[in-house]
Amino acid sequence: MTTHSAEGIRWDLTDLFSSYDDPRIEVTLNDCHHRAEAFARRFRGTINIPGGPPPEHLLHGLTELEEIEESMSRVANYSSLLYAADSLRAEYQDLEQRVEQRVTGARNLLLFFELEWLELNDEVAERLIHHLTLKPYSHYLKNLRRFRPHRLSESEEKVVNEKDNTGRNAFGRLFSEITSSLTFSLEQEGKVKELTLSEMQALLHQPDRQLRKTAWETLFEGLSRHGQVLTFIYDTLIQDHLTMDRLRHYPNPMIERHLSNEIDAEAVSRMMEVTEANYGIAHDYFRLKASLLRLPRIALYDQYAPVGRELTPFNFAQAQQVILDAFGAFTPVFRDIANEFFAKRWIDAEIRKGKRGGAFCASPSPQLHPYILCNYTDNLRDVMTVAHELGHGLHGTLSRKQSFLNFDTPLTTAETASVFGEMLVFDYLVERQSDPQVRVALIAGKIEDAFATVFRQNVLTRFEQIVFSKRQAGRLTPQAIGHLWINANEKYYGDAVEMLEGYSWGWSYIPHFIHTRFYCYSYVFGELLVLSLYRMYREQGKDFVPRYLALLEAGGSDSPEALLRPLGVDFHDPEFWQKGFDEIRSLVQRVEKLVEQIGQ
Ligand SMILES: [Zn+2]
Repeated sequence: MTTHSAEGIRWDLTDLFSSYDDPRIEVTLNDCHHRAEAFARRFRGTINIPGGPPPEHLLHGLTELEEIEESMSRVANYSSLLYAADSLRAEYQDLEQRVEQRVTGARNLLLFFELEWLELNDEVAERLIHHLTLKPYSHYLKNLRRFRPHRLSESEEKVVNEKDNTGRNAFGRLFSEITSSLTFSLEQEGKVKELTLSEMQALLHQPDRQLRKTAWETLFEGLSRHGQVLTFIYDTLIQDHLTMDRLRHYPNPMIERHLSNEIDAEAVSRMMEVTEANYGIAHDYFRLKASLLRLPRIALYDQYAPVGRELTPFNFAQAQQVILDAFGAFTPVFRDIANEFFAKRWIDAEIRKGKRGGAFCASPSPQLHPYILCNYTDNLRDVMTVAHELGHGLHGTLSRKQSFLNFDTPLTTAETASVFGEMLVFDYLVERQSDPQVRVALIAGKIEDAFATVFRQNVLTRFEQIVFSKRQAGRLTPQAIGHLWINANEKYYGDAVEMLEGYSWGWSYIPHFIHTRFYCYSYVFGELLVLSLYRMYREQGKDFVPRYLALLEAGGSDSPEALLRPLGVDFHDPEFWQKGFDEIRSLVQRVEKLVEQIGQ
C-alpha cells in the first residue's frame, strides 16, 4: 500500500452507535419491530375505506411512519457505513446482513399503509392531497400515487422484499466484495506493488505515459480474470429487472427510474440527444490535448494525462483550506457547515484495503448529520471529489429542516449541490492563479471532469439502454457485453482517441450498473443544470445566494420542476440544455487561448 496525506483521516461513527456490537443496535431493531406491529394493529384497514380516512387520521399515520423509518435508518446507515469502510471484516458483513433482514421484516409490517393509500380511488386521494391538514405531506402523497399502476399486492410485495435479500441484494454484495478486495500487481521503480482499484485508476492521471499504459493494461487484464463472475452478476441483475418490469407493467426499463427521479422520459431523451449532438466539443478538445502532449493522437489511457503545470501534490490539509475558503466566498453558511465535517471527523478519506472505492456522502435522516467516504490520493482531482461530497453534505445538512418523508431529493437534483460545490472550488483556484501553465492544468481538469460527468455518463446510459434491450433475447456473454460497451464508447471518442481492446471490460467495475440502474443520466442532468445555475450566480452575484440556499433547504419537499421554477429554470426548453454545452465549449476555448499565449 502506498501512503498518502489522508492516512489516519477516518470517520467517527459514534454519533450513531459505539461499535458493531453496541447493544443499542438490537434494542433499536426490536423497538422498530414492536412499533411497526403496533402501527399495523392501529392503522390496518383504516386507510382504504369508502370515502377515505379522516385527514387527521392519515396525518397521524404518516408522522408515526416517519418516526419508525427514521429510527430504522439510523441502524441501516450505521451498518452500511461500517461495511463500506471495511467490507472484508466478518463482523461487519454479519451485521449488514442481519440489519438488512430485520429492516425488511419491519418494512413488511408497514407496507400495507402505502398500498392502502394507493388503492383509494383518484377522487378521494385528490381531495386528501389538497386538504390543508395534510399540506406538509401533499407532495409525498401525490408522488406515491404515480407508482400506483406498478404496485403488486401486499403479499406479493412482501415476498419480493424478502427474496431480494438472497436475490438481487446478495448479487450486489458479491459485486462489492469482489471489487473492493481486488488488487493488481504493478512494477514501479523496480518493486512490485499490490494496488487497489482506486489506486490503479489514480495512475491514469500520472505524467509518465508508459506508466499509464502499463497501469491501464494491468487494470483491465486484472478485471478480465474476474470477468466470468462479474458478467454473471450483471447479467443476472438485468434479468431480474426485466422480470420485475414485466410483473410491474413498466413499458420500458427506464420508466421506474424516471418516476423516482420525478422527470418525464421526454425531457431525458431531449437532454441525451442534445448531449450527443455536442460530442464534437469532445473531439476538438481531445485533438487539442494530443497537441499539448505532442502526440499525433491520444489513446484512452491519455485522456486524463496531466497538461500544463499541475498544482500537485495537494495534501488533505490544503484541500480542507481551499474548500473552506471557496465555500466561504460564496456564503459563510457553507463554510461553517463544511468546517464541521472536518472538525468533527465525519469524513473517511484514507486508502485501505477492503474499503469501498470511489466516494459517497450518506445523509441518513433529518435527525442525523451526513457522513462522507472518499479515497484521497493527494491530487487536485481528489480535492474536487471532497468538494463534490461536501456539496452533498451541505444539501443533507440544510434540508434537515424537512421531515423524514420530505428529506431526500430525487437523483435528478441530488447532484446539484455537489457539482455546484466543485464549481466554487474550481473558480476559486483559477482566479488565484497568474501562471498560464497552471491555468491550463486547472481548466483542462475542469473540462475533463465535465466530460466525465456529461459525455461519459451519457455513454453509460446509452450502453445500459442497449444492454437491457439485448438481454430480452437471452443471456449475455462477456463478449457480447464488451462489444456493446465498445460501440457505445466509439460514438463519443470518434476517431479523436485510439480505442483499445482491453477496454471491453470497461463496464465491469462500475457500481451504478449493479446498485442503481439508469443512475448515470442524473449526472448529465445535474452537471448541465449546475453550469446554468452557476452562470446565473455570476450574473446575479449575491442576490442569487438566498435563492440557492432556499433550494437546498427545500430538500425533496416538492418536484424538481417546482423547486427550480423560482430560479428561472425550465428543463423542457431545449435551449436550456444547450446552454450547459456553450459553457463547456467556452472552457475549451479558454484553453486554446492560453495555449496560443504560451506559444506551445
Ligand atoms: Zn455525487
